[in-house]
Amino acid sequence: KLYNLVQDLKGNIRVYCRVRPFLPGQPISSSTVEHIEEGTITIKVPSKYGKEGRKPFMFNKVFGPSATQEEVFSDMQPLVRSVLDGYNVCIFAYGQTGSGKTFTMSGPTELTEESLGVNYRALADLFLLSNQRKDTTSYEISVQMLEIYNEQLMDLGQTNRAVSSTAMNDRSSRSHSCVTVHVQGRDLTSGSILHGSMHLVDLAGSERVDKSEVTGDRLKEAQHINKSLSALGDVISSLSQKTSHVPYRNSKLTQLLQDSLGGSAKTLMFVHISPEAETLGETISTLKFAERVG
Ligand code: ADP
Ligand code: MG
Repeated sequence: KLYNLVQDLKGNIRVYCRVRPFLPGQPISSSTVEHIEEGTITIKVPSKYGKEGRKPFMFNKVFGPSATQEEVFSDMQPLVRSVLDGYNVCIFAYGQTGSGKTFTMSGPTELTEESLGVNYRALADLFLLSNQRKDTTSYEISVQMLEIYNEQLMDLGQTNRAVSSTAMNDRSSRSHSCVTVHVQGRDLTSGSILHGSMHLVDLAGSERVDKSEVTGDRLKEAQHINKSLSALGDVISSLSQKTSHVPYRNSKLTQLLQDSLGGSAKTLMFVHISPEAETLGETISTLKFAERVG
């Protein structure tokens, strides 16, 4: 309750950043992230990208390469739990392909208890807490998995498509996948009903594709991704600036989430950064996206 009060004062949109570690077997090179402190990360910018120097970017929270899945979730736990008090919550993982979005939301391919991502931890926590409250409130919790690919919505729970796992992995970086949780709580004394919802969204990779290099289906995919990520950025930045018109209609994703973004809803934009110098261009555009929505 106190947490919700504090967050209400802070506003309903938070922007976090996570920096992926170098992976085993990767050649050791120096990280583009020079310094991480509290809510700031400092990037080394070479002259190739404009004025050479050190550029700080500010966030509500920054997780460095050694942050554990447990640390990440425990920071989000109050946000997740507020769903049982009737709030609508959206958590987005944003970043270029390979930056760690799926690791944060689901975990690595080989799951262990420690490596479980936000989706698993959030669901387990909601069931645990709803059970702890069973003497006062009766909760019904439903879970749905959706995917948006080329501006088309698919219900993975219903279609159960026969797609090979490699094809699935390959495609997952080019679609938005969303775990949606709906909660209905009935107060056992008064009979009053509350509704809450949570959307956990692993967004399509934000990397720009070189239009001279892709054609046909790939180009169409890239254009759809581009359009929907910038529509999402437009919606969140107009909510954070409290402008009167919020452009929800410009993409399938923002249409789907319209009722869960804005008003008393809570939004967490979690941007992901790769540490390699080769991807600095994408890192900078990710940080600029974060600046725009924050
Ligand atoms: P994305 O979903 O953004 O394309 P992934 O989550 O698939 O990126 O991450 C790319 C690779 O890096 C995967 O092998 C993943 O397990 C690994 N990885 C990502 N983040 C971390 C992390 N914080 N710690 C350890 N390994 C990570
Ligand atoms: Mg992924």
